[in-house]
Amino acid sequence: MILFLDFDGVLHPEGEDHVLNGSADFCFLPRLEALLRQFPFVKIVISSSWREHLLNKTLLKPFSSDIRTRIVGVIPPSGFGLQPPYRNREREILAWLQLHDAVDEPWVALDDAYWQFDHCKDRLVLCGSFVGFDDKASAELRARFEGAS
Ligand SMILES: [Mg+2]
Repeated sequence: MILFLDFDGVLHPEGEDHVLNGSADFCFLPRLEALLRQFPFVKIVISSSWREHLLNKTLLKPFSSDIRTRIVGVIPPSGFGLQPPYRNREREILAWLQLHDAVDEPWVALDDAYWQFDHCKDRLVLCGSFVGFDDKASAELRARFEGAS
């Protein structure tokens, strides 16, 4: 099972308001990591656009060391992979699966950008952009992991 993980709007609320509200970057990461520890068979691939401008080492920094070892890559650059009608993020995810000989692997995307998914929207666990990884998203992700175990 592979989790394609977005950052903005997932691990923290999107936008600048959240700083005013007192929530910081990666404020929901502990909640996600606690869930992931219950499902050790889940591997993580980073799908956040942060991958485009940060080195892998920097991308991994916010994660706890036990979770960091389960991060197996980042999806290819924006625009890579299948052509439309696939949406950008789903096609980059599918490209990663192809490149890693993992097209038969079960996967789920945790993301707030529903418009980036069309053909694969059944794989999406959606977070509200200005809410992030809340109890509802956590319960849904848990159900996906349980379904794959
Ligand atoms: Mg996002």
